Order: sequence, then structure tokens, then C-alpha cells
Amino acid sequence: MLEVTFLDVGEGDAAVVRTPSGRWLAVDGGNLRLAAAPSPEERAGALAGYLAYRRVRRLHLVVSTHPDADHLHGLVPVVERWPVDLVMTSGVEAADDGARRFEAAAVRRRLPVARPQRGWRARLPDGVRLEFLNPPRGGEAWSENDRGLVLRLAYGDVSFLLAADVEAPAEAAMVGAGGCLASTVLKVPHHGSRTSSTEAFLRAVAPRFAVVSVGPNPYGLPDAEVMERYRAQGVEVLRTDGGGAVRFRTDGRRLWLARGAGPWRRVDTAHAAAGEGAGCRESGELVEVAQP
Ligand SMILES: [Zn+2]
Repeated sequence: MLEVTFLDVGEGDAAVVRTPSGRWLAVDGGNLRLAAAPSPEERAGALAGYLAYRRVRRLHLVVSTHPDADHLHGLVPVVERWPVDLVMTSGVEAADDGARRFEAAAVRRRLPVARPQRGWRARLPDGVRLEFLNPPRGGEAWSENDRGLVLRLAYGDVSFLLAADVEAPAEAAMVGAGGCLASTVLKVPHHGSRTSSTEAFLRAVAPRFAVVSVGPNPYGLPDAEVMERYRAQGVEVLRTDGGGAVRFRTDGRRLWLARGAGPWRRVDTAHAAAGEGAGCRESGELVEVAQP
């Protein structure tokens, strides 16, 4: 089974993937506001606590989509303490303490760091496919959010699109560039902000489930109109602040969903456009993820 878990890290993003052969991947780590929490695991950040709870000994891949505190800071204790085979970042510089600690740990521990371009793809030995779909880097004065990494993860007919904090310009560029955006599950870009989730992007992704990673915030996230846009397309919206972690498990054909520590229930993927349409056929070289 492939497991994809969207942790409840408050206002932020953190996703953990366990592949069928037991490889662990982390995509963003939430923030470090849990630093004052009473238990040592919580203090280490929600992602680090979860990895300890799952007895994860080694991470195959750590992806930092962009250096905002609500995505990057929770990765700091992970790159400081866990063996990591490969780190991937957007290459966007950030100068806060968390970003400096992240970079220093990668250097000190000699972790390979790659900056994947659009089209970078890999197939793991257990059949899980990874592809970066973030728009090509250009000279545009794009925001840090729009330069973030967008990762599509697929196993059999079931797929997950992790859309970081991209906004309308990057969404339009990805739709315009073609390729395979269609996915069973979409990690909603930018916490459901009104600057993201454009109609054209939603039509291209056509998800069955939309996961909104969000917590108490002063920005009015997620935007009510955006949430309605998903519902109007028949997409089931799942929020990390309404029932805890959103957990998926799939054998590549069937899909199960659980909330927090709750039980698994089988869900249907019939609505999903993940039927691997024309844009979703594999092409080009598939490379092993261990080669940065
Ligand atoms: Zn964010």
C-alpha cells in the first residue's frame, strides 16, 4: 500500500508518504509553533513527532516546496536528526533563522541537495511515480509562492498532486504547459487562498478529494468562495483543522481514507479524472530518485 498523510500542523503544510516497500518521503514540515508544547515529540515539531511515532529511521526524500516558515521550519529538526538520502528545494533563498538552520544542517551532514526543474521524474522500484510539474523557471518576477515545487505522486491509477502555495500565475503556466495535472487527490494550493484554485486549474486537476491544510489564521483562509468552487465541481473537501490528519491509503486501484486516529473507510475514485488521460501517459527517461 502507498500511504499519504496530510498532518494537522495548524496553519501550514506537512505531508508524509510511505511507499509500498517502506520508503519514507516528507513534503514540507509545517511551522515550529509547537515549540512550547508540553511533550518532547510535539516540541520537536509535528512532523518530527509523527516520524518518531511511526519509528521512521531514514527518509528517502525530503522536499521543501518553498522556504516559508509554515512549510519549512518543521523540516529543520528532520534534516538535523534523521538520515536523509536526498533533499529537494525550490532554490528560493530565505534568510530567516529556520531557513539558515535548514541549510546549515544540509551542509554539515553532507546531504545531497537538488533543485528539480519541471519534468524531473522518477519511478521507485515499488512502482510509485514522482514528477515535478512546477512551471519552468523564467525571468519573470514571480513570487516565492509561484516558484514553489509542485509534485505529482502516482501509484497505479491513484494520484496525488501536492500544489504547495502556488497562485494564479503558476497555475495558469502549468495548465498552459500541458502535461499531467489530473489527480485523484489535490493538496489545495496556498491553504485555500482566493489567489489560487482558479477554475482552469481545477478543471485540469479534476480531483475527487481536495485537502486543505489550514489552522487558525488571521487571513481568512480558506476562502469561502474558493471552497464553494470545489464543492460546485463535486469535489469532497477535507480540512486538516476539522478532524485531524487526513490519511489516504491505496493499492493503486482502490482508495481508503481515515481522519486522525479514526478507522479506515473505502472511498470510490470513480469521479476522478485520474484515469490517466492523454496528458498522463509516461514518456521520457525514468530515473532513480537516489541520483540527484
Ligand atoms: Zn503556506
